Amino acid sequence: SFQNLSPLTPNKCNEIIPQNQTQIRVLQWNLLSQTLGINNDNFVCCPDEALHWNRRRYLLTEEIIKYSPDIICLQEVDHFKYLKKTLATQGYEGMFFPKPDSPCMYIKDNNGPDGCAIFYLADKFEFVQKETRILEVWRVQSNQVAIITILKDKHTGEELCIATTHLKARSGALLAALRNEQGKDLLDFVSAHASDRPVILCGDFNAEPTEPIYSTVLNHQALRLSSAYGYGGCEPPYTTWKVRQEGEVCHTIDYIFYSKDKFKVVDVLQFPTGDDIGQGRVPSMSYPSDHFSLVCDLRFNNLEISNS
Ligand code: NDP
Ligand code: CA
Repeated sequence: SFQNLSPLTPNKCNEIIPQNQTQIRVLQWNLLSQTLGINNDNFVCCPDEALHWNRRRYLLTEEIIKYSPDIICLQEVDHFKYLKKTLATQGYEGMFFPKPDSPCMYIKDNNGPDGCAIFYLADKFEFVQKETRILEVWRVQSNQVAIITILKDKHTGEELCIATTHLKARSGALLAALRNEQGKDLLDFVSAHASDRPVILCGDFNAEPTEPIYSTVLNHQALRLSSAYGYGGCEPPYTTWKVRQEGEVCHTIDYIFYSKDKFKVVDVLQFPTGDDIGQGRVPSMSYPSDHFSLVCDLRFNNLEISNS
């Protein structure tokens, strides 16, 4: 059964409806690559033991499973086999696509390349199609990837297009321009495969809402997307909050975009507050990633009248 998500939005819908037939719960999360988290990120306030895989993996799976999402979009996955096996016990099937030149591979004792993954509840959806892409920038392949899957809702018969990506990291105007080009390529890829199906596009875009890519996504003519957490034109203050050598990094770079003509946002999960997570921020002994998980409930517009 569904639990209520703590709402960020004041206009939370409390109607009693057969939720799992008309709604889709989506979880989006950059769960922090094990290899990068230990060797690259240099989170200065995070105790080493918090990053041990044998400890972290339980927190990661707990965080994913506790919300009972129908669709799970993940980035920085470098333990796909573990997730596939663990999530299979909860009824999920999944797919993975690695980065072509993952920074993990340059680190001793890596567990393979990191990449994007999508999981879905096999009871609820029938798999139709999977497409992967190495995102191109000015027609040249970059090191960032995307996955699309077409799923058929077994109850409604409706087909959905689910997509996920992890755009190039780091700040600066040049990199923001590069992300915008990656995003355009991503949107072309998504619209080519979605045709007129409802779209859910999740990811770590590594871009704050002020970056060009954010408006590029929202202004795409054919896809007509809105941001699930960005109601009233305002995104939450952060989706990641960490302390590095150069200081605290607290900003919004992860999103769930959806077809605004096809879905209504019913609920979104509120992130932990600064007090919840403490001075050392995340990751920590209690939070396994430096990003928070975004969870939202989407309801099909066309089912609204007949089911409420
Ligand atoms: P990105 O710039 O996209 O970043 C890779 C990862 O680093 C992301 O997962 C990102 O996390 C994380 N990251 C972001 N900011 C920081 C930071 N300040 N400190 C530590 N980690 C951070 O990299 P690319 O995918 O473009 O890959 C890097 C390239 O570098 C590869 O193509 C590889 O060839 C090369 N490389 C070479 C090495 C060598 O030894 N020769 C070593 C490593 C990489 P998030 O998205 O959460 O911000
Ligand atoms: Ca990272």
